[in-house]
Amino acid sequence: MKKRAIIIGAGYGGMALANILGKAGYRVDVYEKNSEAGGRIHAVKQDGFTFDLGPSWYLMPEVFEDYYSLFGESASKRLDLVRFSPGYKVYFENHDSLLVQGDVESDKATFEAIEAGAGEKLQRYVDDATLAYELSVRQFLYNNFLRIRDVVTWPVLRNAPKMLRLVAKTLDGYVSRKFRDKRLQQLLEYHMVFLGTSPFAAPAIYTLMSHLDYRSGVYYPRRGMLSLVEDMERLGRGYDISYHYDAPVAEIVVESGAAVGIKLRDGTIERADIIVSNADMQFTETQLVPDRYQSFPKTYWEKREPGPGALLVSIGVKGELPDLLHHNLYFVDKWRENFAAIYDDATIPEYASVYVCNPTKTDPRLAPDGHENLFILMPLPSGVELSAAEQEQLADRAIATFAQAASIEDIEERIVTRMTFGPKEFQDRYNAWQFNAFGGESHILRQSVIFRTPNKSKKLKNLYYVGAGTLPGIGLPMCLIGAQLTYKQIAGNRTAGPLGEEDI
Ligand SMILES: Cc1cc2nc3c(=O)[nH]c(=O)nc-3n(C[C@H](O)[C@H](O)[C@H](O)COP(=O)(O)OP(=O)(O)OC[C@H]3O[C@@H](n4cnc5c(N)ncnc54)[C@H](O)[C@@H]3O)c2cc1C
Repeated sequence: MKKRAIIIGAGYGGMALANILGKAGYRVDVYEKNSEAGGRIHAVKQDGFTFDLGPSWYLMPEVFEDYYSLFGESASKRLDLVRFSPGYKVYFENHDSLLVQGDVESDKATFEAIEAGAGEKLQRYVDDATLAYELSVRQFLYNNFLRIRDVVTWPVLRNAPKMLRLVAKTLDGYVSRKFRDKRLQQLLEYHMVFLGTSPFAAPAIYTLMSHLDYRSGVYYPRRGMLSLVEDMERLGRGYDISYHYDAPVAEIVVESGAAVGIKLRDGTIERADIIVSNADMQFTETQLVPDRYQSFPKTYWEKREPGPGALLVSIGVKGELPDLLHHNLYFVDKWRENFAAIYDDATIPEYASVYVCNPTKTDPRLAPDGHENLFILMPLPSGVELSAAEQEQLADRAIATFAQAASIEDIEERIVTRMTFGPKEFQDRYNAWQFNAFGGESHILRQSVIFRTPNKSKKLKNLYYVGAGTLPGIGLPMCLIGAQLTYKQIAGNRTAGPLGEEDI
């Protein structure tokens, strides 16, 4: 008889694992509390606009290719990817804006124009970033760290002195010794906010993110981010996979030290050979697993740090916004203070850098004719709830600040519709731990690689985890790698490295 697997949550990680288990011959049932799949890949329609409320950067394309190749398919073909050139635009508080082209050769000139000698330094910086990236992806990301020989490998040993230097320093310490101009430092450090940490705390190994900006490139699926979810579901259609919506799970059922099923909120019990939770790890462990079987109880989470919260402000704008690109960033001068508010003081930042997505630049169908669609993402500290009035005031501020930076003087008169999605919405919709936006623990060193919360229960047989909260971490490519890691745990495959088609 077929083995049966239950997955709690139809986020990208849960769906990715459903397909792998389906291919491995399991009957898979996915129970999702909301009425659609995708989890944090989410969009809402309002007044003729389609507002994305989740990811918008398609990075690490080779990871998507690796995953799709498990099914004999190509991600770039199925998702109709476009590479942005330039990759994105950056606005500064007191300087002219600039474009990041997405390849070192062109971007060297931009760096050189700001600081003499910085062009050549960028070349060396990105070469080192590429080395760190390749080593991390191949040696650490596709690794459950079950065998010492998968961690202590020849490439790791050969590069150990360089890597140890990158782990010992903070990213800001590393960058600011090479580049003096604040703008250049910001360009090489901003990613940390999306990994849920600050460049003043994150290890310099995260310099690897610059490999993505200046070498690998920024991509986008032409039919929008939701097409990733639709395609993930389509990819699994030949297998025995069923999605059940509006089906919140209330409890993981335990018998004789093993997870044997789930209890839905309506009282129905469903049994299976293995249970995997894709919901936020802290929620799963403290709310779904009975007290005595929690491997990671409340006291564990008191010592862990979630990624940041976020306020999303979506606006429909009449007329064109010719100055903007699809991806835009705005960096405040008080850079350190902005990060300190989010990560040290847990207060609403007075000076807030923001990310602004203008997806109608690529897909005009997301707004009625003659209109543009924008969303502004303002990172916030986790654990901070906003009242409805505070949320709207903060949204007003975000709009005004960015409009001023991008010289869109008449924005207020041109806004025809608006909505906000903040900490409370993240908690209500996803059961987000401490209102976090991105789905898991921050990537400070003590919560990364071997120190990340593992994908297998320590107390219950047959209970596993998948998604941003566990190995290897936050973001869509990480969810795809994570699905492979969780499958390896289930299948008793102790190897490191990506799965091959024949491994499933
Ligand atoms: C605004 C924003 C911007 C982002 N930008 C990017 C980006 O540009 N690029 C990128 O790669 N990543 C980005 N991310 C991060 C990325 O979206 C997430 O890391 C990823 O989608 C998390 O997927 P997941 O599978 O771990 O979990 P989730 O997407 O959180 O899915 C978990 C699912 O479990 C369900 N669930 C919870 N509790 C229960 C229950 N009791 N019963 C049943 N179901 C339950 C939830 O409803 C949800 O559907 C962004 C995230 C956000 C929010």
